[in-house]
Amino acid sequence: MSAGNSEFTPEFFDESSRAWMQNKKRIGESMVYRCDYLVTADRPCKNSAKMPTGISPRRCKIHINKEPKSISKNGC
Ligand SMILES: [Zn+2]
Repeated sequence: MSAGNSEFTPEFFDESSRAWMQNKKRIGESMVYRCDYLVTADRPCKNSAKMPTGISPRRCKIHINKEPKSISKNGC
């Protein structure tokens, strides 16, 4: 808890924790990953993903079977 190292400022921790939080979501006392699926081009899904078990695309139960790049086709 000593402040001997000037590189590790409160701002540094705040910034890194915010970056760390970006793809995760807090549920109660534990952290879960967020779904990687993009609802729109700049808006990822807000649901919590199933815990990753060696699978790289993390998807919630809604998007688990969705194709990765389905929004790039622009098909309405
Ligand atoms: Zn999702």
